[in-house]
Amino acid sequence: MSRVALGERLELPRAKLSGELGRLVEAGLVAIGGPAASRGGRRSTLVHLADDLRFLGVDVGATSVTVAVTDGRCEVLASESQDCLVRQGPGPVLGTVRTLADQVLGKAPGRLLGAGIGLPGPVSFREGMPVAPPIMPGWDRYPVRDELSGAWGCPVTVDNDVNVMALGERHAGVARSLDDLIFVKIGTGIGCGIVLGGRVYRGVAGTAGDIGHIRLDDYGPACACGEVGCLEAYFGGAALARDALTLARSGRSPALAEQLEHGGTLTAKNVGEAAAAGDFAAANLVREGGRRLGHVVASLVSFLNPGMVVIGGGVSQLGHPLLAEVRSSVYRRSLPLATGNLPIVLSELGTLAGVTGAAWSATDRAFT
Ligand SMILES: [Zn+2]
Repeated sequence: MSRVALGERLELPRAKLSGELGRLVEAGLVAIGGPAASRGGRRSTLVHLADDLRFLGVDVGATSVTVAVTDGRCEVLASESQDCLVRQGPGPVLGTVRTLADQVLGKAPGRLLGAGIGLPGPVSFREGMPVAPPIMPGWDRYPVRDELSGAWGCPVTVDNDVNVMALGERHAGVARSLDDLIFVKIGTGIGCGIVLGGRVYRGVAGTAGDIGHIRLDDYGPACACGEVGCLEAYFGGAALARDALTLARSGRSPALAEQLEHGGTLTAKNVGEAAAAGDFAAANLVREGGRRLGHVVASLVSFLNPGMVVIGGGVSQLGHPLLAEVRSSVYRRSLPLATGNLPIVLSELGTLAGVTGAAWSATDRAFT
């Protein structure tokens, strides 16, 4: 923005502002650009974040890793993804992260000031490490922050993957500039990022928003966490694949049976394709899942009164039929006052939500 606008925003007198900007320019964080558009009177000059500032955003999912390099405004300059199972443990996974980081930094070189990483499990944000993550053997209390910070020579923030996705949508996606929102991720697991008053709410132990293990039925299917009837055991990626296989083998879904024959395996994506092609059993699976998810989201809406519900993650590629089911569940079950002005929408950033939010978290730390 222009010097004049910046001075007004910060309520700083001109001399003080010049002094502070001088310091930032000297530190290489800020650059002075050309003349600003005239607002009448004396023309002001533009100031902006230095062009060579770089931040890394890392999104580790259960089955893949994405690494992006961004500029100081968290615009993604280059990104790389690779299939990678988180259950291999921190050694191989962080090795993949560092290889991908080298690749993206090679494409958009600059001065690395910070990095953020999202992990698919509970994280102690303060200590920068995962804590007793159920799907991540070998990761419990592994010093992720300290290892990467040592390797890259910059501060690193470690957070839960859903929290960074929520921050990404808030910074650059569909929830831009909203202070109160929830981001529901449906992937291999199901989780929820909670942004309240512009900040992520993590809870005492970092497990806030772990909605995948809310029990829906005491006699429901077994869950990876050891309990039964969890939301995730009905509608996580693994549960959908399991149900799709049952439908294909029992002959109730011709479309899924055909996809199974061709591909040898079935995932949530196959369910979406079969449903879109008009397969009754597959469409029913999406409806049932959306209804169950909707029940849980309706409770969250009653409890938190958010300004928006964003749905993302791999299974969200089931798209509008899923969205329609969640919406109808929530609008039917929550108080009219809470839903009167409540958009329930799909993630806009898709696979880049996590890396964008992780980079945002890194800039927040670095600039502070
Ligand atoms: Zn569970």
